[in-house]
Order: sequence, then structure tokens, then C-alpha cells
Amino acid sequence: MSNPLYSSKSQQHASHIQYPNLSQHHQLRHATFTRHGGVSPAPYDSLNVGDAVGDSVKNVAENLMIMKRSMDVPRILSTRQTHGTEILIAGADTTETAAAAWQADAMITNRVDTGLMIKQADCQAVILFDPRKNVIANVHCGWRGNVGNILGRVVRTMTDHFHCRSGDLVAAIAPSLGPCCAEFVTHKEIFPPDFNEFRVSENHFDLWRLSSHQLVMEGVDQRNITVSEICTRCHMDRFFSYRGEGVTGRFGTFVMLK
Ligand SMILES: [Zn+2]
Repeated sequence: MSNPLYSSKSQQHASHIQYPNLSQHHQLRHATFTRHGGVSPAPYDSLNVGDAVGDSVKNVAENLMIMKRSMDVPRILSTRQTHGTEILIAGADTTETAAAAWQADAMITNRVDTGLMIKQADCQAVILFDPRKNVIANVHCGWRGNVGNILGRVVRTMTDHFHCRSGDLVAAIAPSLGPCCAEFVTHKEIFPPDFNEFRVSENHFDLWRLSSHQLVMEGVDQRNITVSEICTRCHMDRFFSYRGEGVTGRFGTFVMLK
């Protein structure tokens, strides 16, 4: 599979991938970090940012510092992700501690130097950016997020609250479960019937295409959406996978306005 992404790794920088449609905007800094370059031992090896998976608080804090140094970022907000549809609008006074106590699966901000990070292990992180209004969002979207249409809610919040035009938005879907591994044997009970359009075999679904569709339904231009097309479960050498590993870490996808 050809892939439009590139990786970097050096002594100073934790390994990460970036998305070409976001990289061309110089007022933006973004990355999906791989699992490499951190300090956590197995099964959280090694750049784990999950603070509720069994890894030590000290290791997670050290890994966050490595990310901040790597990206030259003063602060990174991340919330208590609950597979819900709550959205945190981060302002100048939103501290890392306040965000960490906030139950939300999406963050939006128009503040500079305010990093937004989603923690992942199979679920999607979806970065949204409005280059005209300079507004960013970062969304945690697993299958429950798709059922609750958190992506649609975030786009509507960006248009209602920040006066964004959905047609201006640029989006990137980070490594996450691919159609090869997104198996839901109980899909008849948990998915609405219209998700069948994204069913690729008896029990497998293309959640990447479903998320793209949910964005397009809110007016996002398909041509402005990049899908990494990297399945986490198929690439446990580079990313954490809950389905593949059970007890494991979380990798981080991050975005910030400069
Ligand atoms: Zn796979």
C-alpha cells in the first residue's frame, strides 16, 4: 500500500509521522508519535502516554516531556477519554491538570501554544484544522464515537462557536484499526443499519471510510481528508494496539497552533 506519510527519528526527536495536508500549513505543528523513543518498560514500551493503563505516573510524565521537547511545545492538554461525545473548548486558562480531569473525547481551541493530544490504541485520532480561522480540534473516535457521531458534533461546534466553514476544514485520520482488523461480531446490536454501507465482510467494517463519510456529511471536502491507512493491530511494532495486545500503552496524536 502506498502511503503519503513520512517518519522521522533521531537522537533528539521521538519517532513520529505527519500528514502532508497539515504539514503545508506553517502555523500548525502536529504529529502522531509511534510507540518508540520513551522510557516505559513492557508492556508499555516505550513512549506511553496512557495514564490509566497500569504504567507508572513517573514514566508517563517523562514520556510527555520527551514529546514536548521533541515538538518544542510548552503545554499539551489531554482529557479523560470515555468513548463519549463531550467536547472541551480549551481557552487560555485551561491547564493541563484541569483538562486531565475533564471527561471529554474531543478538544477544540483557537489559542496558540496550546497542544491538544489524543491517546490511542486502535481508536482513531482525527485532527481538524481551519486555516482561515486558525482553529484546531483533536478527536478521539472509536466505534462508540462513530455511533454518537462525535466527528459531526465537533464540526458543528467549530462552525457554531468559532464561525468556521466546514468546507475550509482540513482533516487527518491517524493510525487506528483498519478494515482488516475492525471486526464486530455483535454489529447488528451495536451499529445502526446505515453503517452496513461500510461493512467489508461478514463482521468487518471500514471505520476509516465511515469517519470520512461522517465528516463529509457535515460539509468537509473529501479532498481535504487524509487517512493514514496504517492499521494499529497490523503494526504493533510501531503502534500500541489494544486488540492485539490487551494490556498495553497509548500512543499520542498531537496538534498545536503556533
Ligand atoms: Zn489490520
